[in-house]
Amino acid sequence: MGSGAAFSTERYNGAVVVDDRLLLDAGAPLLPHMRRLGIDPGAIDVLFLTHFHGDHILGLPPYLLYRAFVDHGRPFLIVGQAGVEEHLEGLFRLCWGDEWPGFRKQARVEYDEGRDQGEAAGVPYQTVGLKHGPTPAQGYRLHLDGRILAYAGDTQATAELDHLVDGADVAITEATGPSDSAVHTSWEQAHAVAARHPGTRFLFNHVFVGDTEGAVQDLEVVEV
Ligand SMILES: [Zn+2]
Ligand SMILES: [Zn+2]
Repeated sequence: MGSGAAFSTERYNGAVVVDDRLLLDAGAPLLPHMRRLGIDPGAIDVLFLTHFHGDHILGLPPYLLYRAFVDHGRPFLIVGQAGVEEHLEGLFRLCWGDEWPGFRKQARVEYDEGRDQGEAAGVPYQTVGLKHGPTPAQGYRLHLDGRILAYAGDTQATAELDHLVDGADVAITEATGPSDSAVHTSWEQAHAVAARHPGTRFLFNHVFVGDTEGAVQDLEVVEV
């Protein structure tokens, strides 16, 4: 739903929906994008969160109010690294104040944190720790109908990224910009990673500016 980096002027922040029910990061304005794509916001079972940077979590506060007030038919599970509950609860409390605990209950928010592997909403997964400068981050390998989807969020192009995408059918990884970065993957590095894994279909996102060959296609800007 968004393929932009943190301060891209051309693209929304990152968020991906898989099979209408799995959310990978939550930076983009979730509700208008889901409506436009025909995705039911109440049908999302689980969020797999890679790290706590704002461009990956700030779609959540409005989205969770939808889950609290419009559609609270099922729990909303948030999977993340150790500390995700404390971190996000601080964000939601900042956003909604003393009303948040009631909203949380209505939205049926649950957390599952700090696991190397597990199963969420029937999807087996493994986590892979990634290098993202000083920021703790993790990618996911999701096992879906016998296939593997690797999702990186933000990462440098280190051996950990190769480990994450190794043998995956599809990999969604970042390609932030044309120059080398201490915390991100450059376009050149992204192409090199793809070349090292020819059996994997790569979708590049988190693009700061311009286009990179093979990158995911942007959505049109939503009229709001
Ligand atoms: Zn980011
Ligand atoms: Zn980041």
